[in-house]
Amino acid sequence: MTGERGLMLVISGPSGCGKSSICRRLLEDERVVFSISATTRPMRTGETDGVDYFFVDKQRFREHIENGDFIEWAEVHGNLYGTLRGPMEEALAAGKTVLVEIDVQGGSQLKDLELPGLYVFIAPPNMDTLRARLVGRGTDAPEVIERRLKKAGEEMDKQDRYDHVVVNDDFEAALRTVRRLAGLEKEPSA
Ligand code: ADP
Ligand code: 5GP
Repeated sequence: MTGERGLMLVISGPSGCGKSSICRRLLEDERVVFSISATTRPMRTGETDGVDYFFVDKQRFREHIENGDFIEWAEVHGNLYGTLRGPMEEALAAGKTVLVEIDVQGGSQLKDLELPGLYVFIAPPNMDTLRARLVGRGTDAPEVIERRLKKAGEEMDKQDRYDHVVVNDDFEAALRTVRRLAGLEKEPSA
């Protein structure tokens, strides 16, 4: 297996579809690493610089843009976010599966760049279930949930742009499907 280039695995889908849950489980595999974005947003409690994000100020972010350090970047809710080329290239060269967990807009942008990778859209079984999961997660106020559900409708329209759509109904089955699509179903031989 040594010397083989890794795979960029883009996991996208509406808020509440189960992206984070799936990514968390995929990351238990040592062949998988997380693509750490740079952002200008302030660090939240519980986050670690260099683990969750590279937290930078606006000037540093601008320098990254000018130096061409980003594969893509975007402004989301007034903060800047970008995927750094360097760490991504390093991980791919090391044969890793590099996980990019990104919203549908960001995923579509990456797809438009025609970067080689596997683009997987995680879909909820239906909108009622999506609502129930967002409520059940307990992290968002009711008006935020309504906003996310409204956006989810538009995001679902973009699913055809992805290489694969995985319906996250039975969690373990969805996880198995993503693993299979990424060629991770077999444990590496010791
Ligand atoms: P996202 O990262 O896409 O916003 P999360 O991974 O946070 O979504 O999942 C939203 C909520 O739904 C979480 O509370 C999670 O535990 C739950 N969840 C995810 N997948 C399933 C599933 N297949 N069945 C039931 N609940 C699920
Ligand atoms: P949060 O601030 O909640 O961590 O993320 C806010 C939004 O920024 C999410 O929708 C997330 O997908 C998006 N995001 C995170 N990193 C990047 C990135 O590198 N590029 C783009 N385009 N969006 C990102």
